[in-house]
Amino acid sequence: MTISINAAFDSGNIVVESIDGTSARLSIRKDRESDFFQWFHFRVACNVGDALQLAITGLADSAYPDGWPGYAVCASTDRDHWFRLDTDYDSASGTLTVQHTAESPILWVAYFAPYSMERHHDLIASVAECEGVTYRCLGTSIEGQPIDCIEMGTGDIHVWLYARQHPGESMAEWWMEGALEKLTDPADPYARSLRRKCRLHIVPNMNPDGSCRGHLRTNYAGVNLNREWDNPTAERSPEVLCMRNAMDESGVDWAMDVHGDEAIPAVFLAGFEGIPSLKSEQMDKYKAFQTALAANTPDFQVDLGYVESAPGQANLSMSTTQLAERFGAVSMTLEMPFKDNRDLPDPVQGWSPERSKLLAHACLATLDQLL
Ligand code: ZN
Repeated sequence: MTISINAAFDSGNIVVESIDGTSARLSIRKDRESDFFQWFHFRVACNVGDALQLAITGLADSAYPDGWPGYAVCASTDRDHWFRLDTDYDSASGTLTVQHTAESPILWVAYFAPYSMERHHDLIASVAECEGVTYRCLGTSIEGQPIDCIEMGTGDIHVWLYARQHPGESMAEWWMEGALEKLTDPADPYARSLRRKCRLHIVPNMNPDGSCRGHLRTNYAGVNLNREWDNPTAERSPEVLCMRNAMDESGVDWAMDVHGDEAIPAVFLAGFEGIPSLKSEQMDKYKAFQTALAANTPDFQVDLGYVESAPGQANLSMSTTQLAERFGAVSMTLEMPFKDNRDLPDPVQGWSPERSKLLAHACLATLDQLL
């Protein structure tokens, strides 16, 4: 039997170029109104025992070609447990090839374990019911989806946690699920302490349109939301505008913007060292958080990361730098790998939803220690 491939579902993205028996040549659709592409998510209907060969082509032109060497494709048979497949990348042709002997009639394949909008709504619904939690809709996306915000805590330190400006970075919402589970656990001492010291504002998905559409990096209009923070508009970036307006009302003392990085095999932070108004105590707090987090979890490190901005050269269209400049906040971009933590690899799962959630626990414990 010839296999069949389908991606007509929430966050699905693949183009079938050709199928020959149990082999397929595929490519990735670009984000709408943009040239970015890297996220894929599709299902393969086959027979148990089929020797599947799936070749994703054209990747030399993808958003992050450095993301493919050393990367292994994620797959699941039950859409719950995700594991890695044997994957080879040929940089000369820009082709990622997966070889797999089918163990079930349907194999689900994705760039990273997906976080569906259904699961997002389940998360919001379950957390909104918890004691001491307030639900707030900050606004709507271009296509009319809610920008959901969960608030809790009675302190006067305003902490903002937000994720999925880049919708293909689904590990960011797994991190959020871990954070919300910890923060709503009545027995958790760090959560109890944080809720006494802080008012927490948590936005698990800033880009629901891009998430549904299987985008890597942009919203419905093809706009990279993390380049809009100096001048968001209702036409291009209502998702940022409504959130920045809410931040202007509350103020921001600490902020964490959660992402995934395609190329670097490590968890790391990026900060705001290049902002014009940089204060040394602001930077000291950021560095103290980084040091404490590295002590709290072996999944975090400080050696690999982005090149720092020169003094005064920060790009203020990004949220981390904009919030540091605008509010004097201690703000940070947390990056998790699509590949794995090079220093603590897991050959079966690579970086995973489970590890993303545990990292959130470590981040919150660290935050509590510093406040
Ligand atoms: Zn990102």
